[in-house]
Amino acid sequence: MSAAARSPVDTPQFLPREHLNELFTALRRRGYELVGPVIRQGAIVYDHIETAEDLPCGWTDHQEAGKYRLERREDQRYFGYVVGPQSWKQYLFPPVARIATATATEAGWEVTAADAADAPRYAFIGVRACELAAIAVQDRVFIQKDYADPIYKARRERAFFLAVNCAQSAPTCFCSSMGTGPECGAGYDLALTELDDGFTVEVGSSTGEGIVQELALLSATDEQLRDAEAERRRAIEQQTRSMRTDDVHRLLLDNPHHPRWSETAERCLSCTNCTQVCPTCFCSSVREVTDLDVAQVERRREWDSCFNFDFSYMNGGVVRNSVRSRYRQWLTHKLATWQDQFAVSGCVGCGRCITWCPVGIDLTEEVAVIRGSAE
Ligand code: SF4
Ligand code: SF4
Repeated sequence: MSAAARSPVDTPQFLPREHLNELFTALRRRGYELVGPVIRQGAIVYDHIETAEDLPCGWTDHQEAGKYRLERREDQRYFGYVVGPQSWKQYLFPPVARIATATATEAGWEVTAADAADAPRYAFIGVRACELAAIAVQDRVFIQKDYADPIYKARRERAFFLAVNCAQSAPTCFCSSMGTGPECGAGYDLALTELDDGFTVEVGSSTGEGIVQELALLSATDEQLRDAEAERRRAIEQQTRSMRTDDVHRLLLDNPHHPRWSETAERCLSCTNCTQVCPTCFCSSVREVTDLDVAQVERRREWDSCFNFDFSYMNGGVVRNSVRSRYRQWLTHKLATWQDQFAVSGCVGCGRCITWCPVGIDLTEEVAVIRGSAE
């Protein structure tokens, strides 16, 4: 392939590093609000961005079970980190959402459902392969059954996904064994692989194609494609954790009384961190908030967690009233009964629940221990 030829967009293109802001401008011109990685309070999280200068240029994240810290890189990569405590879930399935408002009128209560027509139009910058897989999992939960969630659906349909292939893995990552990464498969509009002087660009949708044509990029050279492949391969080779998935459904459901559940419950704080950081967890509860003169009542949906004591409250009692029963519920749902419900695993191997568990409980280790001494 000639280095200088302008090419059709079914071949990878090359975006010079100094032109990244032109891509962002093209997205903004189409009405998207850019959301991407930024450094806040010692972590890489997702927030509104304006330009490439807002990205965590030259930073990386060091992760282990129960540990996370940022470190300087030796280069100036924009996307030289793995994943932080947040996922795109908070934008598609907001932590707090108004679902209806009841207003007192002379004729009685007038109820209006939340209007999804004014849903924001996000361009998500730097989406990783495991995160695309997690969104595909949440699609099955929220929009592929008989009752579509209007809040999720409106945000999802309007979003643009600028994916980035991982060039490194954290010790907590195990997406390779889950078949969800580290290379982006489907679900993106554009997918970048970062090199020192720019990005190879793959097109995944007609919207992405239009942007690439507007930027008038050149075809990636053979050398750039080889370098990009080496970057992606490094991420696979760095993965040390794994999950065996072939028998995990049967394994967990056949071992509800395994002693490991009690051992883990002695460490687990039931803090809910693992469910909050997980990009696929979707438990929520609904409550009503009344203003002081009782003229208006807002019905809100809020993230909840199966680790909360009262989450399983029903008919006068809490069904899962021990940490053991709650941890077992979370892990068996995530890895086994989720498959019965949605025909897919509830885990994409992002490793967040391992990093952000304050006591370093590691689900890959839990499954391995149960497998090692299954009943
Ligand atoms: S269960 Fe843990 S590793 Fe799996 S998707 Fe959720 S946070 Fe990531
Ligand atoms: S497994 Fe860890 S993160 Fe999850 S509830 Fe228990 S202590 Fe918290």
